[in-house]
Amino acid sequence: MNEIKAPKGTRDIFAPEIQKWHYLENAIHTYYKKFLYQEIRTPIFEHSELFSRGIGSETEVVQKEMYTFTDKSDRSLTLRPENTASVVRAAIENNIFETLAPLRFYYIGPMFRYDKPQKGRYRQFQQFGIEVFADDSPQVDAEVIFAAVDFLKKLGIEAMQLDLNSVGCPQCRPGYLQVLRKAARTEESRLCADCRRKIDGNPLRIFDCKLPACAEIAGSLPLISDHLCGECRDHFATVRETLSWMNVSFQLNPRMVRGLDYYTKTAFEITSGQLGAQNALLGGGRYNNLIKELGGPDMAGIGFAAGMERIILHLQHLEVPQAKILFVAYQDPQWLAHAIQLAQVLREEGFPVYLDYQGKNLKKQFKKADRVAAAFTLILAEDEIKNGSVSIKNMATQEQIKISLKELNEWLKKNY
Ligand code: AMP
Repeated sequence: MNEIKAPKGTRDIFAPEIQKWHYLENAIHTYYKKFLYQEIRTPIFEHSELFSRGIGSETEVVQKEMYTFTDKSDRSLTLRPENTASVVRAAIENNIFETLAPLRFYYIGPMFRYDKPQKGRYRQFQQFGIEVFADDSPQVDAEVIFAAVDFLKKLGIEAMQLDLNSVGCPQCRPGYLQVLRKAARTEESRLCADCRRKIDGNPLRIFDCKLPACAEIAGSLPLISDHLCGECRDHFATVRETLSWMNVSFQLNPRMVRGLDYYTKTAFEITSGQLGAQNALLGGGRYNNLIKELGGPDMAGIGFAAGMERIILHLQHLEVPQAKILFVAYQDPQWLAHAIQLAQVLREEGFPVYLDYQGKNLKKQFKKADRVAAAFTLILAEDEIKNGSVSIKNMATQEQIKISLKELNEWLKKNY
């Protein structure tokens, strides 16, 4: 029979890599609570309309990358390609705006995009992200960016670059888009077919094209930074000033546009010098119209999403300390009940304990203890059972001592 493989673009995660995932997930839970973010978990699939309305029907994600299917009741559902639209949907549906404060959320979970798989790019990948609602202060933008940069730094990721831009708002962006369209049209014949299509749809995305000819043309197209309205200009200036108070260095990049249509004002991206072609670690920005767009109140929002596989690639050399394993061995199957009870007591005390039910003789059990990398093997034999004691073998040094069961707790406290 043919072997069944995991679908293209997905991967299995297990030890030892899984230890890095636990480390990263714990770090996220701990770090973001310091800023009063609360975890939110939303469904992995949603009505397809949420994403076409939320992310923008003209975006690459919605047009080419969604896993959309019809369920048995003929509903169009989509595996979430990102989580901001879902968090906003959840907040509106559960009226969280009225009941929770502050309106700050973080999430961790899988996203799905029909992307071309390569190193660091998958069809099922894991993101964590944060969202702040109901606060349009530019200082919040700076704090969100700080909480991205500082978190990555604390993980030991140093070689990264923060690109910063303002993509304008409904006051100034339409005027700029007109200017941009006009300029792009004069170069239309030199642009690739994809970019030609973007002129009418979303000309900002021309800046994303990786083809050298398009990139060269993009280099001379008008920039949003020259067309911001007074409010966007002031907002952006305060974001930059606050970032300087926070000691966050950044690079202004007026050609950085984000892949999702909902962004307004501040947009940012963190790239890593250590990754290859897929070097984006994290991206985010302000989305002051999304909540209203999805049927909620007229309320500001800002957030980011980070690619966890790409962060894990940076934790290659991280040694996550593991709890030492205790192995309970019994010389003869007749002592199995004692062994099981000793294992139970030790687990109650919080130790990771293993015992081998197939253990035919001590030699085989020692071999197993080595395979599971036990630090100590606790041996029960006739003598130990009679005297209420236990022998303890240090698996690294092979030294063995015998102590009474009463002293075991004390001994473990000192020697574990
Ligand atoms: P986005 O939601 O497109 O702004 O992406 C945010 C972050 O998610 C990116 O900076 C990447 O780190 C990560 N990411 C996006 N798409 C993928 C993918 N197909 N595979 C792995 N990571 C991804």
